[in-house]
Amino acid sequence: MERHYKLKNILTDVISTLKKQDFLVYFRKISIVEINESSITFGTVSSFMKDNLEAKFYDTVLSATQREFWDNIHSIEFIVDNEIDNPSNTNAIDCQSYYKESSKSAKKAENTKARSGIAAVEKKGSTSNRYTLKNFIVGWDNQLAYSACEAVTKNPGKSYNPLYIYWDVWLGKTHLLQATGNEILMKYKNKKVAYTTADKFITEYVTAVKKRTVDKLLEKFRAIDVLVIDDVQFLSKKEQTQNELYNIFNILYDANKQIIISGDRAPKELTELEPRLRSRFEWGITVDIWKPDFETRLAIIQEKAREKEFMIPQDVAEFIAANVTENVRELEWVLNQMIAEYELTGNTPSLSRIAQKLQKLSFTTDLLGESKSAERRTTSTIKSYEDIIDAVSMHFGIEKEGILWENRKKEFMIPRQVGMYLLKTKMNYTYERIGNIFNGRNHASVLYSCNKMDKMLKKDKTLLYEVNAIKDGIGI
Ligand code: ADP
Ligand code: MG
Repeated sequence: MERHYKLKNILTDVISTLKKQDFLVYFRKISIVEINESSITFGTVSSFMKDNLEAKFYDTVLSATQREFWDNIHSIEFIVDNEIDNPSNTNAIDCQSYYKESSKSAKKAENTKARSGIAAVEKKGSTSNRYTLKNFIVGWDNQLAYSACEAVTKNPGKSYNPLYIYWDVWLGKTHLLQATGNEILMKYKNKKVAYTTADKFITEYVTAVKKRTVDKLLEKFRAIDVLVIDDVQFLSKKEQTQNELYNIFNILYDANKQIIISGDRAPKELTELEPRLRSRFEWGITVDIWKPDFETRLAIIQEKAREKEFMIPQDVAEFIAANVTENVRELEWVLNQMIAEYELTGNTPSLSRIAQKLQKLSFTTDLLGESKSAERRTTSTIKSYEDIIDAVSMHFGIEKEGILWENRKKEFMIPRQVGMYLLKTKMNYTYERIGNIFNGRNHASVLYSCNKMDKMLKKDKTLLYEVNAIKDGIGI
């Protein structure tokens, strides 16, 4: 029990220093196998996890261990622990559920302290408390937008003004905008934050015109410290409203008040908006959000499940993240389906059940967009990219490390390109994500390799045979 207790403390320490998704993705299950005078051996579930922990988190785990053992520990080691899944093994901790447990108790502590209510200009216009910067998952695709929002909360009105965030629907713009508003309210008790959508603003303006209270409306907005306007594309062709917004913008901007805006396109492309308004939107910083990649999707689904206090098995989460790729709302939708089914039938979701479900949905609904395509209606046994890399490494009989790392020897080149190609075509990973897996290569080099493989497969029958054999072996 002593070990278990120590391990818990170490993990709590690790959680506080790592990005949430790193912790959830890389620390699956861990155990303390041995404690010596000056070193500790940790157990992991597989050699892949062991390699990853060693390469990426050795220092983090070492520091946390040293803090727990008062600096008596000088080194740590990771090994594969074959007993880790043995139910009688009390020295192992399932990191997924531990994370859930520890963040729940942290939340409780926070809630008792939290200030209630939101000092928005009016109740209707207030931001939703559900959205916070903390529960927004940061990945490659939204890093810039997130950082800009964070900077704005540190220095409203001063760092990036206006802040304009854009891209397609359901990628988290509203979440980020409201989270930023919420965060400012938490930090600065006296600041007035107003959240509105372009639609609401139009209605408000039109009503004010009818009631001849436009002055009052202006007065109200003049008193705001932070104005958040969502979905400005809906202002198109509403010239009078645009004029009013233009005036409000200028008043607030001149008074160094923060303005945060979202739209479905870059300001330049909002051609149905007045040019002078468009150009104001560009005065500060404009950032786009991309479609989430596999890693972000996985972290999001885990976060949403955690919020709903639903335990989702790792392989199921990975399967969904690999197959539901279009936007975040789809991910949430699939998760809600699973929860509903669980509540009705008591069945915990299994990989085959969810594969079946996605398959069925793709016939009956449009909601899954791209996942509808026949080739993605798969009941593959693939769980993560590791399985593909393992299969490639086994097929060619070479070390995984040689494939993943910067080894220029010719015998590694083809397998590496095959690995990248399969991740792109079968897992739908972004080039960035693949680059990350392959020792931080850049986007262009992965793109080059994938294209090259594509061409080679069209010419080289033997290679095609080999790639097909790998695919068949793992059912993709
Ligand atoms: P948009 O405004 O771009 O259409 P939303 O902010 O409404 O998108 O996002 C749709 C849903 O997806 C929301 O429930 C939101 O919480 C969730 N979501 C999107 N991106 C993320 C993210 N990076 N982390 C956590 N939740 C996200
Ligand atoms: Mg929105």
